[in-house]
Amino acid sequence: MNLKTLRLPNFLSFLFVFYMSLVAIHVAAQSRCGTMSVLSNQMNIDPSLKIRFEGQDIQLQRIINQRKTSGNTLRATGTVTIPVVFHIVLQQPNRVSDAQVMAQLDTINRDYAGLNKQDTRIIDAFKNVFGQSGIQFCLAQRTPDNKPTTGIVRYTTSQTSFPFREGAATDILKHANTGGADAWDTDRYLNIWICDISGDVLGYATFPNIGQKSEQGVVVDFNSIPGGSSTNFNHGKTLTHELGHFFNLYHIWGDDFGACTGTDYIDDTPNQGNSTNTIRTGVVIDNCSPTAPGIMYQNFMDYTPDASLLMFTQQQVARMEASLTSLRMSLTTSDACLPVNVYKNDVGLKAINNPSQRICEPEFTPQVVLENRGKETLTNLTITARLDSAF
Ligand SMILES: [Zn+2]
Repeated sequence: MNLKTLRLPNFLSFLFVFYMSLVAIHVAAQSRCGTMSVLSNQMNIDPSLKIRFEGQDIQLQRIINQRKTSGNTLRATGTVTIPVVFHIVLQQPNRVSDAQVMAQLDTINRDYAGLNKQDTRIIDAFKNVFGQSGIQFCLAQRTPDNKPTTGIVRYTTSQTSFPFREGAATDILKHANTGGADAWDTDRYLNIWICDISGDVLGYATFPNIGQKSEQGVVVDFNSIPGGSSTNFNHGKTLTHELGHFFNLYHIWGDDFGACTGTDYIDDTPNQGNSTNTIRTGVVIDNCSPTAPGIMYQNFMDYTPDASLLMFTQQQVARMEASLTSLRMSLTTSDACLPVNVYKNDVGLKAINNPSQRICEPEFTPQVVLENRGKETLTNLTITARLDSAF
């Protein structure tokens, strides 16, 4: 396009289109989390969901108020430790080491316990509302059928990456028959899938009571965990953020694209126009919080680079704990972090391959599959079989 030939109205149109293109590029570059677009898509498809969700929120607010009156925070009544299983689904799943997973687990335990309270980067006005939850996480020690596990399971997939599709009826990552990995019982385990998400989304989560039961959990890109290669977003804070959604938190800016009318349903977070996408320090103001202390870009529910994400507020903690103890209550009583009793010698018959059905021949070669559940290597075994006829 030759600018000299443009008359003024056309030139203004060009500038507008050019500006909108920049906005589009900017928005695309900041799509750190896909959770809210999944939720709004589900609500567009099923408008009754929005009404149900609002009703659920009124009930939740009642529980939050009761807990506030009685002082029943989880730190007061007892920390709840949630069993976690990490499903690593990659073409080369060993690209994610156990040490990385452990570092990721440490990160969420530190963030949910609120151990950054003394960090000097948090301004005093926000230290006054700093939240420390009684939610902790442990690696599962038993599988759904009560076998020992490390809580870290690797799956080799033929998928080069998994697309983030906000409108998809089924998430192929969460099903073995589409190249992913099936969830473990979502009532007993917090399922976390680590994979290569195509595009720029680094993670997404399911809100309580939304979507299929078999898809409840959190997905994070393998480059977002500690030691990953997402520059500025590889300290594992993506999982801290996505777990916030899993426990019913919204983005701190209320997803209203700068309008100042959206809400995160939290009283002690400042109004914020839009997400923060660069490292910030000190007081930062915006169009919705134009005076100090300004916006709380240190909040885990913002998009600020990982190094600057430091806190939840007390009311966010109250909402998460109320959601956990009401909407995700079964996770609080799961025994999945208790180790399985392993004996020295413990072997069982898993299958009989031959004979596979009733036979009439006088001789046959038995074939069986054994499972060694004991600590010791199996070196010999005696199996006694008995024929039930005259042979
Ligand atoms: Zn998010």
